[in-house]
Amino acid sequence: MFIDTHSHLNLDPFFNDVEPFLERAISNRVEKIIVPSVDVPSSEKSIILSEKYEEIFTAIGIHPNDSEKVDDNYLKILEEYSKNKKVVAIGEIGLDYYRNYSEKKIQKRKFQEQLELAKSLNLPIIIHNRNADYDVLEIMGRVDYFNGQMHCFSSDLEFAKRILEKGMLISFTGVVTFSKKASEVASNLPLERLMIETDSPFMAPVPFRGKTCEPSFVIEIAKKYSELFNIKLEEVEKITTQNAEKLFNI
Ligand SMILES: [Zn+2]
Ligand SMILES: [Zn+2]
Repeated sequence: MFIDTHSHLNLDPFFNDVEPFLERAISNRVEKIIVPSVDVPSSEKSIILSEKYEEIFTAIGIHPNDSEKVDDNYLKILEEYSKNKKVVAIGEIGLDYYRNYSEKKIQKRKFQEQLELAKSLNLPIIIHNRNADYDVLEIMGRVDYFNGQMHCFSSDLEFAKRILEKGMLISFTGVVTFSKKASEVASNLPLERLMIETDSPFMAPVPFRGKTCEPSFVIEIAKKYSELFNIKLEEVEKITTQNAEKLFNI
């Protein structure tokens, strides 16, 4: 069994037509899928999916790009949602200085508030970080909470090592199948600390570039690891699945 640790099945084009994608995933042995959220409505949609399909698990949270748009009572709502037993993480949360859709000050505040929430609930975190290594590490240090996943990893090897030392796990998307930088970083990390993800509908891996990315494609990331580490695909499957099951308690 493979686990896609990051697929936005709660967004278009999936949410209203999720079954064909889910069936294709299952027939490719992708039997557990974590669906992260970007705001309050998508958190609710992820819960709806996870209640309906046993393969789907929910992460609730506010994406940095959406952090300006949320109402002040969002933390109370997330806390209420967290009582659902299919909610297994807080995410995706973090900082995005690449797109800068929300003011940095607001991104940082929402990130810290959600880290504190995750810590108080003892739920793992799913971190989105674009061009914000220093501030991400600084805020996580301030809250002193390092239990989770650095998703769609795009930083350098030095940052990867620092964040692993703190206790986080790392996952790569399809980017690792076509980016030399990402594959070089990945090949220098211990597989015992890695997971796989699609970030679908974004980031389609080779050989599906240009297509809508979907959870069944996560096997291409596993194949890339098997090539980089020169080990059998079954070994990658076993280790990355164990890592995800342990982190998310699923
Ligand atoms: Zn992200
Ligand atoms: Zn995402």
